[in-house]
Amino acid sequence: MLANKQNKHALGTRPELAAGDTVVVVAGKDRGKRGRVLRTIPNEGQIVVEGVNILKRHTKAGQSRGGTRAMQGGIVDFEAPLAYSNVMLVCPSCDQPTRIRHTKLADGRKAIECVRCGEPYERVRSVEQQ
Ligand SMILES: [Zn+2]
Repeated sequence: MLANKQNKHALGTRPELAAGDTVVVVAGKDRGKRGRVLRTIPNEGQIVVEGVNILKRHTKAGQSRGGTRAMQGGIVDFEAPLAYSNVMLVCPSCDQPTRIRHTKLADGRKAIECVRCGEPYERVRSVEQQ
């Protein structure tokens, strides 16, 4: 059921990326920038990265838009989502933009590891939850 919806964005489906990861932008105006993943939007195939794809939203004082922090007015910088395909994961071990492969830990849990240095990631991602 869910599979169909996700297949539309199969190219952008990157369950290996999670909040807190470091990524580098490989396309677009922020190419080359690094940042920490703030959140992922799997259904949209998008990701929000700290300090990347900054847009400015002009707001009026007092304007409150359904919970966004726009009470002060003026120009608010915010990180706009960008496509998964525009970023690459940066391996925390070898500090290189890298691809990952799926592997299994000794205890049988699924994990991912860096293709470059072979270092597995400590945490087991929520792949099963998708
Ligand atoms: Zn590595």
